[in-house]
Amino acid sequence: MKNITLSIVIPVHNEAKNIASLYSALTTHIPEGITVEYVFVDDGSIDESKAILIKLADKNKHIRVVCLSRNFGHQAAIYAGLEHAKGDAVITMDADFQDPPELIPRFVEAWMAGNKVVYGKRIDRSSDNWFKRMSAKTYYRILTASSKVQIPENVGDFRLIDRQVVDCLNNLPRREPFVRGMIAYLGFGQHFIDYERPKRLQGETKYTMRKMFSLALDGLLSFSMLPLKLGLLLGILSVGTGMFFLTYIIWDTMYNDEIYPLYKWLVVVLFMFTGLLFILMWILAEYVSRTYRLNQDKPMYITEKVV
Ligand code: UDP
Ligand code: MG
Repeated sequence: MKNITLSIVIPVHNEAKNIASLYSALTTHIPEGITVEYVFVDDGSIDESKAILIKLADKNKHIRVVCLSRNFGHQAAIYAGLEHAKGDAVITMDADFQDPPELIPRFVEAWMAGNKVVYGKRIDRSSDNWFKRMSAKTYYRILTASSKVQIPENVGDFRLIDRQVVDCLNNLPRREPFVRGMIAYLGFGQHFIDYERPKRLQGETKYTMRKMFSLALDGLLSFSMLPLKLGLLLGILSVGTGMFFLTYIIWDTMYNDEIYPLYKWLVVVLFMFTGLLFILMWILAEYVSRTYRLNQDKPMYITEKVV
């Protein structure tokens, strides 16, 4: 049997206190008979992370360190790692022990059983605060309802992907900065492994509110056209309300001899015209969405195999 290589890609941003323990924990959880390469991506750390990683790589030829020229963000760091990974399967995981290394054998097992994408699914989010849990739930509800691609809920970037999927990702002419959406777009057989997400071992989260919001926005704008369609909804509401009041005042004038001053008629008519404007904006948005889709350069389909 061919010797199997597994790559483990780990984005690192100021994780000096976690690196050594993470590496030693990882080495104890690699299944027998598998060669591992570690691809650490230093995403513009300003602590000793980079120096520690380079020292580690000096001592161990299975470790490579990709140093980015500045902080490009978690998702970009993952893409960089995927480009440098050479394994038959690639696992991406965080450096802070929130993605438990002991799950790796189960990931590999599921992959060997034929699943090209294996996700770690968080069944217990008590390590996240109330706000993060609520916002994530609402967000995924909107995203799945409005996107053609089923982006799985409660999964982060702890996953294993097969070489075929890695190549597909690397060869895309343009990649969205929302890796999990891109992988969902590519398709392939998926498998989920439940786990409880522990608290980070050392240090603080690097995902500030601003970064989290920007990731959420990236996901929504790249994989859903819902925001563009709001014009239609508002338009119908506004025209509908206007028509209702217009019918009412016409009826009131004709049957009750009620006199409405001109400005009241104008308000009702204005309401309807505003609605028409919203609808025109929606029509415009439909054209924009088509150019946007073409610009995203997503392949129309992905072929898994031909038999
Ligand atoms: N990270 C990164 N670049 C960044 C922010 C984070 O490479 O700009 C890394 C970080 O070192 C960690 C992983 O991405 O390995 C996840 O970050 P974090 O644990 O802070 O996010 P959280 O788990 O709180 O969502
Ligand atoms: Mg974390």
